[in-house]
Amino acid sequence: MNKPSIYGLTLDQLKEWLLAHGHKPSRALQVWDLLYRKRVTDFSDMNEVNSECVQLLADTFVIQTLTQHIKQEAADGTVKFLFKLQDGSLIETVMMRHKYGLSVCVTTQVGCNIGCSFCASGLLAKSRDLSAGEIVEQIMNVQLHLDQIEKDELVSHIVVMGIGEPFDNFNNLLDFLNVVIDHKGLAIAGRRITVSTSGIVNKIYEFTDAAIPVNLAISLHAPNNELRTRIMKINRAMPIEKLMASLKYYLAKNNRRITIEYILLKDVNDHKEEAEQLAELFSDFKDRLYVNLIPYNPVDEHSQYQRSEQESVLAFYDTLKKNGVNCKIRQEHGTDIDAACGQLRSKQLKKDAQQ
Ligand code: SAH
Ligand code: SF4
Repeated sequence: MNKPSIYGLTLDQLKEWLLAHGHKPSRALQVWDLLYRKRVTDFSDMNEVNSECVQLLADTFVIQTLTQHIKQEAADGTVKFLFKLQDGSLIETVMMRHKYGLSVCVTTQVGCNIGCSFCASGLLAKSRDLSAGEIVEQIMNVQLHLDQIEKDELVSHIVVMGIGEPFDNFNNLLDFLNVVIDHKGLAIAGRRITVSTSGIVNKIYEFTDAAIPVNLAISLHAPNNELRTRIMKINRAMPIEKLMASLKYYLAKNNRRITIEYILLKDVNDHKEEAEQLAELFSDFKDRLYVNLIPYNPVDEHSQYQRSEQESVLAFYDTLKKNGVNCKIRQEHGTDIDAACGQLRSKQLKKDAQQ
């Protein structure tokens, strides 16, 4: 059996594990300092820690399970990594440079079962969930890449917007978030982390109750059920009114704002009428959310969709603004390197199949 990555354990879980194996829980702090601050990648470099304890950890865990398969760098500084998991599956991770810092987009599943009609990740059904360790490892690999460049740069932001539906891998997602926000480890502030969901309503309630202080983004992409069901089949089981009720619950329980993601698809959802409907949908809580208008990244298999014309994008934006909705048009990153999540992986899988 493959050993799991030690990155998958929250600090409390590591303390409990050490206690259960006859070691002082306080050693967890030493181990975490080495893992996340000194960024040791081999147990044999943990000389500060009691040697029996290190031996036991090394017998049970590994540090890295991911291997780098491909790394592509774009002109704008975006770096895309394709990692191979222990079972041979491929996943994608993207690092983006912004004025405000360095963000990493992580994958949570191998494939996705939600099957949205415009998405490259949903082309292949989910073969498995990623463990919490495999998600943390993506951040650590990017951080180690930055450490090699030696500019003292740190990953400052995380977006859970890679391949997969994070709320369909809920417990591992929560462990991952608890690891990366912990002050004793990477200490990435919760307000700099955003989890995106296609709208798994029951999990939005659970996520609210879990009270992990990170941001929530909703992939809405349409303002009415008829259109949303046409482009996102999940809307049949979890229609807009149920989704809105769960968002109101979330907003009532904390003071964060929600991001609404809206891909603009030419002649499908980019008319003035849809912008007006969107504003109407949010009329009760306009000040608590903002809409991110996303340029569509064309996917070969979904040739029915094209990117909206610039004119329609601006008109859509103006209509939202006129109706009092906060919104912005998302900047693109790394368009020269298949940067829409899922695209590098799906292209690589096609290539592998042809060989
Ligand atoms: N499964 C989650 C998170 C991953 S998808 C979700 O759907 O929210 C992250 C974002 O990328 C979502 O808003 C998704 O709708 C969007 N996306 C998917 N395919 C895209 C494409 N071809 N072009 C632009 N955005 C896309
Ligand atoms: Fe899955 Fe999100 Fe892609 Fe939909 S948009 S198929 S939920 S990854």
